[in-house]
Amino acid sequence: AVAAFLQTLRGWHNAPGCIVTVPHKSPCAALVDETTERARLLGAVNLIRRSDRGRLTGDMVDGLGFIAALRANRFEPAGKNAMVFGAGAVGRALLLSLAEAGIQRIAFSDPDAGRVAALMDLARTARVDDRISAGTVDDLGAVDLAVNASPVGMNGEDRMPFDPARLPRHAMVADVVTKPVETPLLRAAKAHGCRIQTGLEMSDAQATMQLDFFGLLPADGAP
Ligand code: NAD
Repeated sequence: AVAAFLQTLRGWHNAPGCIVTVPHKSPCAALVDETTERARLLGAVNLIRRSDRGRLTGDMVDGLGFIAALRANRFEPAGKNAMVFGAGAVGRALLLSLAEAGIQRIAFSDPDAGRVAALMDLARTARVDDRISAGTVDDLGAVDLAVNASPVGMNGEDRMPFDPARLPRHAMVADVVTKPVETPLLRAAKAHGCRIQTGLEMSDAQATMQLDFFGLLPADGAP
């Protein structure tokens, strides 16, 4: 009943909007009245704001949360080489945000060739395709940032999308999975000597963005 819920939200005078999660991000993008440019490119929203007149505006800040967490961990993406495992909704958001943050090169790996092709289409539309390619684990030796943007490692699954022992020790390893906070990939990366970033850091970094989007951020900017 997502469409009915959003219609109710349009008339809900004291609601600032809502936060959207799996599996409703894409359907909601098609149901709101307008979106930001990045949400339009991604075809997905994770925030919906209600205006006083009941119009709904969608934005997608998963990628911005990831970048904010990287910078809080003192990793600056500009000029770096990245490898991302997973070309689904989060992979697409990371593509736009990492490119905007000045990443030099990103290779994507996903067993679903259709997802990789759609991601390359997005890269062309966003005019960043010169920095994006399809990659394999053989590329890991030269990366500064390796990311799991797939559900691998969720909820007690002990598989890893790649072996972090193949990475240089200066690399940052980030996971988007939030449960468990420390995934098997992050544990192995830490044991190898790499810096790590959890999925929880990525979602926590979005709290301020959410309040700001809803106009609920106190004047001093602190959540
Ligand atoms: P999705 O289904 O859109 O995409 C997942 C992709 O991973 C698919 O294309 C799939 O083919 C690919 N994949 C599966 N196994 C793989 C492997 N071994 N190597 C490479 N790719 C593989 O899912 P999504 O919406 O992108 O979500 C992915 C994960 O991100 C979920 O676990 C979700 O909970 C998490 N997530 C975290 C945050 C956060 O703020 N931390 C936000 C959104 C989603």
